[in-house]
Amino acid sequence: MLSFESLGLNAPLWEAVRDLGYENPTPIQAEVIPMLLESETDLVALAQTGTGKTAAFGLPLLQKTEVDQRKTQGVILSPTRELCLQITRELKNYAKNLPGLGITAVYGGASIRDQARDISRNPQIIVATPGRIKDMIGRGMINLSSIGYCILDEADEMLNMGFYEDIKDILSKTPKDKSTWLFSATMPGEVARIAREFMHQPKEVTVGTKNKATDTVRHEYYTVSGRHRYAALRRLVDAHPGIFSVIFCRTKRDTQRVAEKLIEDGYNAGALHGDLSQNQRDLVMGAFRKKQSQLLVATDVAARGIDVDNITHVIHYQLPDETETYTHRSGRTGRAGKSGVSMVILTRSEMRRVRQIEKIIGQPLVQKELPDGMEICEIQLYHLVSKIRDTEINPAIEGFIPAIRDVLEDLSRDELIQKMVSVEFSRFFEFYNKNSASLSDSPSKSVESSEIGKGQARYFINIGERDGFDWMELKDLLKKELGLGKDDIFHVDVKDGFSFFNTDSVFTPLVMETFRRFSLKGRPIHVEMSTKPREGGKGGFRKNKKKGWKTSGKGGKKTFSKGGSFRQKQKAKKANKAKKGSKGRPGK
Ligand code: AMP
Repeated sequence: MLSFESLGLNAPLWEAVRDLGYENPTPIQAEVIPMLLESETDLVALAQTGTGKTAAFGLPLLQKTEVDQRKTQGVILSPTRELCLQITRELKNYAKNLPGLGITAVYGGASIRDQARDISRNPQIIVATPGRIKDMIGRGMINLSSIGYCILDEADEMLNMGFYEDIKDILSKTPKDKSTWLFSATMPGEVARIAREFMHQPKEVTVGTKNKATDTVRHEYYTVSGRHRYAALRRLVDAHPGIFSVIFCRTKRDTQRVAEKLIEDGYNAGALHGDLSQNQRDLVMGAFRKKQSQLLVATDVAARGIDVDNITHVIHYQLPDETETYTHRSGRTGRAGKSGVSMVILTRSEMRRVRQIEKIIGQPLVQKELPDGMEICEIQLYHLVSKIRDTEINPAIEGFIPAIRDVLEDLSRDELIQKMVSVEFSRFFEFYNKNSASLSDSPSKSVESSEIGKGQARYFINIGERDGFDWMELKDLLKKELGLGKDDIFHVDVKDGFSFFNTDSVFTPLVMETFRRFSLKGRPIHVEMSTKPREGGKGGFRKNKKKGWKTSGKGGKKTFSKGGSFRQKQKAKKANKAKKGSKGRPGK
């Protein structure tokens, strides 16, 4: 394994990087850092956010900066205030062992006077948005006439935002013999033009980083009629408990409207768009970053440069006008080696856009069907149950237990479980009991449809994303343990604390036997038959007083009815436990 030390970095830099916990350089860092350290060269690097590109240009820039020369030596242009601040933060971390090295951020939406004061202290490196730095150069506050390095970060985003003229203007105020390093996620014509006009025989690097970043994102689309867009959004959110998502809308009005509706419907959501004051935007971003809000509804412009890690899903409530913007949107998830999902809600008339997007991302967009109400209820129910199982008991409750026991005295264990689960579950159940109709508007039946075909079986397994699995890794594990081929296991749906998968029903005995007493790293793994979505028409739920809840579709299967599958699972669990002898609470 390559180390930062071996790339030619000086000790103060690699020590700082080591202190940040970076163990090995990412591919782009391994390729770019030695190249930039060795010679003065222009560079065009295709790299997305999340690949480690900031350190790839930041570390060589810091090494080449002369600390005792108090004048501007390097400038980094970035599309947004957020990205500007993020780059500045990262560079300051890398430069912590270089006393005397100043890094200042200048960006719009903040006091120009304060920024001019910071600049008057002669920082060696300026990180800037194009509009603000152009303004400050024009007012004589910043002088770039002797810089040695100019970095254009997220060049495609800057050009998308209409900064071409500003960038041209800024570059014309810099020396001809400086080095220019351009980083971009995509290479549209305008970026190539900048490279042609302002760079000298740039070295080109792709290092597979572009693919690496996109490989971690799965792309899906759902066709609905236009009037069902919001209902479809709710289903996508409800089918992914634990979702942490950016939802993109095309206009400020839609952004505000969707966020308001989500809040009204009980979700933790916030809106981010250009009509908000900087203060309001900071509040919304702060809440999202701290995960106090789960859903951030945003316009493309407002969401540029969002530097929040661990976004699980990007939802395109509407497609962007520019097909290339799709890449920026979906690049917000699947960062730093994590996997993510990009989900597009579209109408049938927008289907032609799918092919355009596929061309740009070099990956297929998989058509999927929206989950129906019953599937969502099942997912939510299992999520809730695993959440209860994994909850740490709060010791503060102990003193209240005798009184609580008194209140709940008359309830059996089963009744208690049912009531406890119903507290949260009923919200979903009642909603989807009334809103269970299919929203799909797909011309042909999806290959990835969640309906279970004849002769197939669907299973629940109590491991998921939280245990470090994505669908490919889980499929690999199942293939290995069951000794089956890659086509024998399908529709692997990984949720937060659990997952579902299908096999041909001939394999059911094998699956059940293999996982009867199975543990993974000391953790008991349970596999159970999952409730089948009904075969036949798409009906709603109806309440059967005696038997509990049933689907109403023709040939509908029992869902959570008495004697039905959920109860059977509980019984089977009990029986299993008794067989094994009680070993205490399963799970973590
Ligand atoms: P970037 O592509 O520059 O936005 O970086 C994405 C994230 O990866 C940032 O949070 C960095 O702090 C982090 N990072 C960059 N390089 C490394 C590395 N070599 N090892 C671990 N994390 C890194």
